[in-house]
Amino acid sequence: MTDTAIEAVGLGRRYGRRRAKWALRECSFRLPVGRVCALVGPNGAGKTTLLAHAAGLLRPTEGTIRVLGTNPASARERIAFVAQEKPLIPQLSVADTLRMGRELNPARWQDELANRIVEEGNLDPHARVRNLSGGQRSRLALALAFGKRPELLLLDEPMADLDPLSRHQLMGLLMADAAEHGTTVLMSSHVLGELEHSCDYLLLVDGGRVRLGGETEDLISAHTLLTGPVGDLAPHTVVESRTTGRQLTALVRQDGPVGDTWQTLEPTLEELLLAHLRSPGAPPLLTPSADSLSLPLTEATV
Ligand code: ATP
Repeated sequence: MTDTAIEAVGLGRRYGRRRAKWALRECSFRLPVGRVCALVGPNGAGKTTLLAHAAGLLRPTEGTIRVLGTNPASARERIAFVAQEKPLIPQLSVADTLRMGRELNPARWQDELANRIVEEGNLDPHARVRNLSGGQRSRLALALAFGKRPELLLLDEPMADLDPLSRHQLMGLLMADAAEHGTTVLMSSHVLGELEHSCDYLLLVDGGRVRLGGETEDLISAHTLLTGPVGDLAPHTVVESRTTGRQLTALVRQDGPVGDTWQTLEPTLEELLLAHLRSPGAPPLLTPSADSLSLPLTEATV
C-alpha cells in the first residue's frame, strides 16, 4: 500500500519532428491518495500531456512518473481515464457499452452507479454512441469510468460539454463516490467555479511546470492580498503588484508581520490563480505534501 497516488520527478516530454518542443519540463510534484485535485492552467500548459503520462499512454522523454506505487502501465487496471475527446466505440449502443465495461472489469464493476448515471441523463439504452450528443457521450464516458471503480480517476475537462444541471449533478455524484471509496481524482478544468467547492487539492501547471501544488486551503492561506499606500513590500515575496494612483494592491507570500498601513485580505482561489498566471516569474510554491523532491529517495528518484 502506498499513500502516494501520483509522483512525478523531473518529468519531461518533448514533441515534434525534431522533438524541439517541450510540453512538460522539469515537472515534479506528488499527489497523495484520497485527494480530489484540480488540474488547472492555460491552454497548452501541458495538462493533457500530464494526464496521458499518468494514464500510461505516453512515455516520458526524461524523468519519471509513478502511479499508485508502480509504473503507470502496470497500474492500468486500477486507473480510469476520461480523455477530452471521450473515445467510445461509435457503433455500440449505450447498453452494449455498459455491458462491455462490466465484462472488462468483472471484479470491481459498479453496475448500479453506472446505470444511474446513464438513466439520470435520460439516455436511451438502445441509442448508438455515434448518434449521441457531445454531452450525452461525456455522460456515458463518465459512467464507464465510475463503473470501473478505479483507485485513481483521471479526468480531462470532463464537464466541458455538459449542461449546468448535469454538471452539478455529476459533480455531486463524483464527490460522494470518491469520498465513499477513497478514490483519488485528478481533474482538469477551465471552470474555476466548478473546482472551488469540489476539490481539496490543486495543481497549477504553466509552461510544462508545476507553479502551485498542494492543499487548496493551505495555498490560499499562504498568500495575502495587501492594499495600501505605495511603499516597500519587503520582506514579503511579491507574486503580483499593481499601482493605481497612490494606492498599491499586491498579492504576496507573507514573510513576517504586516505593518498597520496595509489592509489585508485572504485571496479567493480565482484571485490566487489569476495573479500567478499573470506573473510567470513568481516563484513556485509546493506545500510539503505536494513536493516530491522533499521525499526521501525512492525507486522513482534514483
Ligand atoms: P488545453 O487547456 O488547451 O487542453 P493543455 O494544458 O491540455 O491545453 P497539452 O494538450 O498537454 O496542453 O499541450 C501542451 C503542449 O504540447 C502544447 O504546446 C501543444 O501544442 C503540444 N502538443 C500536445 N500534443 C502534441 C502532439 N501530439 N504533437 C506535438 N505537440 C503537441
